[in-house]
This record gives sequence, structure tokens and C-alpha cells, in this order.
Amino acid sequence: MLWSSTIVKTDSDCPRQSLWSREGKEGEQWDGYRVGSYIHDWIYSKLTGFPEPSKDKLSISELVQADSLVKNFESMGDIHIPDNGTCIEQSYVSKILEGGMQAEWVPAPQWAIRGPDWDPYTAGKETVFRIQPDLFFIEGDTIVIYDWKTGMGRPSDSTLESDEQSIVYAAALSHMYPQMGKVRFVWWNIRHKTGRSIERSRHEWSNLARPIFKACYDKDQSDRDAIETDTRPGEHCGRCPFSKDCLSVSDGHESLPDVDLYRYSSRLSTLASRVSKELTKRLKVRTSPVKLPDGSVIGLQIKTSSKWRRGEKERGLQIVFDSLIEHGMNPYEFLDVRDSLGKWIERLPEDVSSRIQGLLTDFNRTVVIERKN
Ligand code: SF4
Repeated sequence: MLWSSTIVKTDSDCPRQSLWSREGKEGEQWDGYRVGSYIHDWIYSKLTGFPEPSKDKLSISELVQADSLVKNFESMGDIHIPDNGTCIEQSYVSKILEGGMQAEWVPAPQWAIRGPDWDPYTAGKETVFRIQPDLFFIEGDTIVIYDWKTGMGRPSDSTLESDEQSIVYAAALSHMYPQMGKVRFVWWNIRHKTGRSIERSRHEWSNLARPIFKACYDKDQSDRDAIETDTRPGEHCGRCPFSKDCLSVSDGHESLPDVDLYRYSSRLSTLASRVSKELTKRLKVRTSPVKLPDGSVIGLQIKTSSKWRRGEKERGLQIVFDSLIEHGMNPYEFLDVRDSLGKWIERLPEDVSSRIQGLLTDFNRTVVIERKN
């Protein structure tokens, strides 16, 4: 299967999401990444001379954020980028062998790059890893890798120390350039205008990456269907492209922060309405209804109901009103007509309801779910 550092991270959140991503299943991209994608494309255009990305799909607030990040980048004069020998957003792939050994890193074929020819199934049963550093270059005996960050968060030093993306990128480039001594990975945070870096020897990066590559290889030997049932719902479901096709729900949502809880609640509403539509569709082809212990009935039923004959509603209500007064009853106690007309008539005294029978007519209607009141 085709792996990337993003898919490795996703696998820690939810194995099913990671599996479906590896298989190239189509989903809906979370729009929270829109500004970040724009900035990556904008930096790419600035460094390569390509046309600037379109802003057409950015909302007003996203445009404001994007402009502010562009200004930030332009004011970060300490970012050293050599004019020659800099590789920008180049993709490479390597087969991963048993034990997490890297084979040979080569420029990625079109099937491994998101675009019109994207087809991760081509990897078949082999474990293939793809990297795409934002930028890298050689400086003396050091490979320098840059990664553009646009998120709000400022990861801790320990998070960066174990960052899987930096480890696999640095290990892959170490493998590609065995004559180099060190690799420096630099996170440039465009939002906060800061840079943080970690430098290690080629061998250190490789040793850190090997268990990650090995885990990818081992996972590809596991039972696919078992992985698909391994869902780990949580806050990340709000960003998952497959949330519409996944019915897993999370316990412990009470502890989620407001924004995540809102996303989670929106997802549940979407799921509920989708499940309800699917249930209705299925019940319509049942050949017999089912009665539930609480008295509700699911499945198609033909029900006969009453309705006013055309133009008789006003006269009928007047007769009911007058008849109730005539019986010394308070007509306002019968004003609640939220139930069906038939149920309302059942509540009327028999003598009153008999006076309007001639103004009513029966009609048949199809009921798919009859809830017990
Ligand atoms: S919606 Fe959540 S549980 Fe379902 S696949 Fe996505 S991340 Fe996993």
C-alpha cells in the first residue's frame, strides 16, 4: 500500500481512516485546511515563478487570514533559500522491505501523486512510502529540510523530537545522499513568524525511522477487514474525509473543547439524518411491518384517515364549538389539534362527533414509521 507521513499520523488517530486513505477512497476534504493549502501553493509560486494560486474558493475571513500569512512570510527575512540546488515540493517513493529497510528512493510516479493520475491501488501488496518535503537543499555536509507550518498551535519540543514527518523525511533524504553527514529539519511557523530546528546525524534519523517503516510494512501484512473495523472516533472525526460514511461515535465527548464538540455534534446530526433516510428507503421495500415492544410499528402500512370535505372545515369547527357549549363544555379545552384529525375527533363527545360525520371523508395514506405516542 502507499504510505505517507500524513497517513502514518492518521493511523494513530483512526486505523480505518488511514486504511481508506491508503486505498484512495474518495472523501470530502475538511475545509479547515483551505488557508494552509493556499499558503503552501502561494509559497511554491513565489519560489518557482509559477502563477499564484486562485483565491476564488476563499471566504472573506479566509482571505484576510491568507493575506496576513502572506505578509508574515514576506517579512521573515531570515529564511535562507539558496538560488541553486533547492528542491521544492519534489515527491519521492521507495519500497519498504521487511524489517523496515528502505529500498531505493526515486522520483514518485504519477499514480503516487495526488492529481488526475492518482491511483494508490497500483502499489498492490507492496509497501511503498512517499515523501514530499516542502523544500530541501544541501549546505556543506548537511541536508537542510524546510517545512511550512500555518496552524495556530505551537508544538512542544518533545512533540517535535518525535515528529514522524521530520523523521521519515530526514531518513529518506539520508538514504538518497549517503555522502552527507547530517540532516537539519526546520519548521517555519508562518503564523507566529518563528523557526525551530532539529539536527541529527544521518544514522540517528535512519534509526528513528526504521521502526516507523517496519510498522507500515507489518501493517500491510495484516488482515484488511480487521483494520477496517478498527475505528477510533474522537475529535479528529470532524476532520476526517470519510465521516459521512462512518457510523462510529465517540464516548467521552463531554471533555471535548467547544469547537470540537460543535463539529462532533454537527457530524452526529448529519449521521442521524443520513441513517434516517437510509432506514426509510429500506423499510419501503419490507414486505411486512414489524411491531416493536414499545408499540411503534416500522415498515409500510396503509392507514385510513379522516379529512374535511372540501370547503367544510369552517362549518364543521363551528358545529363542534356550538355543540360543546350546548353540552355545557368548554370548547377551548378541545383546541389542541396537533394530533391527526381522526384522533381529535375521537376525543370529542360521541354526540358532538356524530354531528360532523357528514362533513368528513376518508383517505388512505402510506406510513413508514408509526411512533407510539
Ligand atoms: S469518522 Fe472517525 S471513526 Fe470514522 S473513519 Fe473517520 S476518524 Fe475513523
